[in-house]
Amino acid sequence: MGGIVAIVGRPNVGKSTLFNRLIGERRAIVEDVPGVTRDRLYGEAEWFSRRFWVVDTGGLDLEAQEEIPAAIRRQVLAAVDEADLVLFVVSAQEGITPADESIAQLLRKSGKPVLLVVNKVDAPVHELYVPEFYRLGLSDPIAVSAAHGKGIAELVEAVLARLPQEDEGEVVGDDAIRVAIVGRPNVGKSSLVNAILGEERVVVTDVPGTTRDAVDIPFRTPEAEFVLVDTAGLRRPGRVGRGTEYYSTLRTLRALERAHVAVLVLDATEGIVEQDRRIAGYAWERGRAVVVAFNKWDAVERDPQLSVRYEREVRRDLYFLANPPVLYISALTGRKVSRLLEEVRAAAERFRFRIDPEELDAIFRDAVLLTPPPSVGGKRPRLYRMRQVLTGPPKFVVEVDDPSLVTSGYLGYLENRLREVHPLPGVPIRIEAERYV
Ligand code: GDP
Ligand code: GDP
Repeated sequence: MGGIVAIVGRPNVGKSTLFNRLIGERRAIVEDVPGVTRDRLYGEAEWFSRRFWVVDTGGLDLEAQEEIPAAIRRQVLAAVDEADLVLFVVSAQEGITPADESIAQLLRKSGKPVLLVVNKVDAPVHELYVPEFYRLGLSDPIAVSAAHGKGIAELVEAVLARLPQEDEGEVVGDDAIRVAIVGRPNVGKSSLVNAILGEERVVVTDVPGTTRDAVDIPFRTPEAEFVLVDTAGLRRPGRVGRGTEYYSTLRTLRALERAHVAVLVLDATEGIVEQDRRIAGYAWERGRAVVVAFNKWDAVERDPQLSVRYEREVRRDLYFLANPPVLYISALTGRKVSRLLEEVRAAAERFRFRIDPEELDAIFRDAVLLTPPPSVGGKRPRLYRMRQVLTGPPKFVVEVDDPSLVTSGYLGYLENRLREVHPLPGVPIRIEAERYV
């Protein structure tokens, strides 16, 4: 599902205004990067029931080459590298500048699909300036006014037409379990990919058609079929270089888009840090089942207290993961790597959990009887029934006379009651209130 759209252009053309238009009310992910003009922003856009990621690259100011740290230029190029589509933003009110020309040249060389977005077309008079942008030798210019919201729907249509459709790139049958190996740099993700593929019982299967940027690796064990998704850059342990550290978050988000199960790799020599929590949060928000793997177990002293401590830390720092399976592995020695695959398979099964409607009804009635919903502003909602509407991950709706009266705390209570019977460790459960009709 989805795809990644990078917004590129010189400063002040309106990139961040356009970014905000595209993601609307949704929350942006901000990440501090040393030496960058502004925080990098990632955001999820949803239009016409399709979702895609948008990255605001900050600025690419080729006019002031001396002052621009090479790192920033590299970052923008790395974003272009990662993107499925680039929105190159220019300004109708300022016309083509030398910086625009250099960026256009860079983008033409990159071979990426580019949409030329002429911004600041606020009034009909500005439309006169649009045709001059054909000179940049890119696609037909699309006129918008990010500030006034003009032309945005047309732009979005052009974007969606160029993004991969959902599920494209799948190379094995529907039953294959799609696995994303995620974690911050240096925890051993590449080493783990290699360890998995080197496992005796693993058979790497033929790849009928690898997708353009995404490198998916299908393989089989006697128990199940898997696909490691988006392993680009994950096959050479210890590599350093352009883009790898800059866009690791983007790479994570992209991999999560296409996975069923995320293996969150942590470094057992360092424990859980803030960045680990953040990555765990992305996986959870994206609705993926999570298996936690403390890697480099060979390197820590065989301190029996350590696994106890880590288990406690997972419950505390990663509490939202609903008691995920925790493994202590070594990509280096192969310790517990086949066990990890077994846990991934089990997690995928839970991810596709379906409850019997009668059982759900019984759990629901008991729960409501035991603790009725609290009244809000003197009014108490009437709950009618609960249904499972989706799986992978499981989603439920509670039918109620007035959904606005149902608190998130009460939905959390219903989730807890459900988990008492079906714990579904490491699997996100969604419950929403819906108007009974
Ligand atoms: P960025 O540096 O490319 O991210 O540009 P910003 O989004 O920060 O916008 C730079 C300036 O252009 C701000 O003052 C915006 O209010 C203004 N701006 C953005 N979009 C438009 C537009 O569609 N029309 C006009 N007139 N101004 C705009
Ligand atoms: P990535 O950035 O997450 O892909 O991490 P790499 O796979 O490149 O590994 C980072 C470093 O950790 C390399 O020097 C690896 O050799 C080392 N490493 C990876 N897995 C293990 C492990 O299980 N044990 C030990 N001792 N070192 C490991």
